Amino acid sequence: MEYRRLGNTGLKVSEISLGSWLTYGGYVEEQKAVASIDKAYELGINFFDTANVYMRGEAEKVVGKTLRKYPRSSYVLATKVFGKMGDGPNDQGLSRKHITEQCDASLQRLGLDYVDIYYCHRYHQDTPLEETLRALDDLVRQGKILYVGISEWTAQQITDAIHLADKKLLDRIVVNQPNYSMLQRYIEKEVMPVSEKHGIGQVVFSPLAQGVLTGKYKKSEAVPEDSRAAQKDLNMSRVLSEENLDKVEQLKGIAKEENLSLAQLAIAWILRQPNVASALVGASRPEQLEENTKASGVKLSGETLERIEGILG
Ligand code: NDP
Repeated sequence: MEYRRLGNTGLKVSEISLGSWLTYGGYVEEQKAVASIDKAYELGINFFDTANVYMRGEAEKVVGKTLRKYPRSSYVLATKVFGKMGDGPNDQGLSRKHITEQCDASLQRLGLDYVDIYYCHRYHQDTPLEETLRALDDLVRQGKILYVGISEWTAQQITDAIHLADKKLLDRIVVNQPNYSMLQRYIEKEVMPVSEKHGIGQVVFSPLAQGVLTGKYKKSEAVPEDSRAAQKDLNMSRVLSEENLDKVEQLKGIAKEENLSLAQLAIAWILRQPNVASALVGASRPEQLEENTKASGVKLSGETLERIEGILG
């Protein structure tokens, strides 16, 4: 496993990281969840991701319980705040009250004294940006969080936050967590250039488009019974569009020529971007991590990247 600096910070994270959305505390039974997290650690993944809202705190419990047996200095753990955690008017968003209470609740579920990265899961229109940044700055000073991140903010929102933090001498955002894959490239236009300018690294979620970029979903076949798309509460129809599945079929040819699985090609393609610190994958079983982590360190040639571009358009 290779490691990269997270933006302009001194923190090193594994090129491939492991997340817990839908899976741990969710549709993956606990034994398999624990085995997957353990396998990730064994393979050199030092970066784990969760959120308060993932299965209303259950994901944090599984991740925390599993990681706690390892030395705290050997892994980087991120969680998030913003989503709805209760029915009250203050049970969501980025107010000082909600951030402060949720950070304590996450630490309790994780069974830890601090998290390395605390993300604002989305932008909150109803809270002044300064209130949010000050609340996060206080958490840094209290030692409960070490670095501040955001997820799915626009380039303008990122710029505003950086300028405000600099003006008020508050802790800066150092990491962004956007959706990015061969099938979802909106960040390339504005978010990535703005992040690069301000020393913000990307930790990109759903790099395999929720499994579509492994090639296991095919146009003419039913979805595999043991796959995410078969979960009854989930609707993956958008990402499973005919157009995407056609691209996947063509990409398989390139992966084969490169002696890579399609998942490995998809991750190596993401890691071609120097602004990406880590590709944040999910895994429903340990074998998937054995396959996916082999993408670390793979360099695709200019010619291969051009051929991929020809397919992606
Ligand atoms: P991926 O695109 O990596 O999809 C992961 C899923 O694909 C796995 O759970 C598995 O599902 C399948 N898969 C993975 N590897 C293989 C393989 N080698 N062969 C076959 N199937 C495979 O990422 P996720 O969508 O899970 O997102 C990753 C993480 O990003 C989340 O856990 C979360 O931490 C974060 N995230 C953040 C969001 C945000 O708003 N900030 C939003 C979404 C995610 P299965 O086997 O069940 O088919």
